[in-house]
Amino acid sequence: MAGLNVILLGPPGAGKGTQAERIKQDYNLVHISTGDMLREAVAAGTELGVKAKGFMDAGELVPDEVVIGIVVDRLRQPDTESGFLLDGFPRSLSQAHELDTALDAAGKQITMALAMIVPESELIKRLTGRRLCRDCQKPYHVVFSPPRQEGVCDQCGGEIFQRSDDSEETVQNRLEVYRTQTEPLIDYYRSRGVLTEIDGVGHPDEIYQRIRGSLSQ
Ligand code: AMP
Repeated sequence: MAGLNVILLGPPGAGKGTQAERIKQDYNLVHISTGDMLREAVAAGTELGVKAKGFMDAGELVPDEVVIGIVVDRLRQPDTESGFLLDGFPRSLSQAHELDTALDAAGKQITMALAMIVPESELIKRLTGRRLCRDCQKPYHVVFSPPRQEGVCDQCGGEIFQRSDDSEETVQNRLEVYRTQTEPLIDYYRSRGVLTEIDGVGHPDEIYQRIRGSLSQ
């Protein structure tokens, strides 16, 4: 049986990465995070990374012709047959249309788009205090969820760092880009009958229970 094909929608700082870790394990889905893929490309200094870096540092969207190809290629891999979780893609209506075309051609469809709803004041607090493990990507927060030992990942011992685009100024721009380019996707997926809104405020465990409740229906 084909698995769940899920999109995680929401502004930067809504907790998509945190929830994606849990969902992918429990539902055995391939996690496709365009942000992670692009950061890896930047770190490795590939041609893709060189093209993407300036846009990412400014909090702008990387151009469609760069991003869509990497997602479509990833969706062609056989491991996605048992279900996938898209995190950070699509981020604009044009990306959503391209995704539909690729899925139609493969005889697949989106099972559910989960839109995580969080007020903007909360997003700014979360993003500017956010830290990540450089090796396993586990997320931390300087106030809400610090690691046991400062600077060291609890899970793998990796180095904890702050994303360069989590500075206050870039965060404001990323939120503006979200409002103008990504938020329209909520109506898009609602009109297609696959949207579920999730209250993204609260403890991550509590939020995950809300997501589980929706995915189990
Ligand atoms: P994220 O980790 O999802 O917050 O993504 C970090 C940055 O990567 C974004 O601010 C964009 O510059 C870029 N990015 C990630 N996903 C996309 C996408 N679907 N389209 C365009 N740019 C993206």
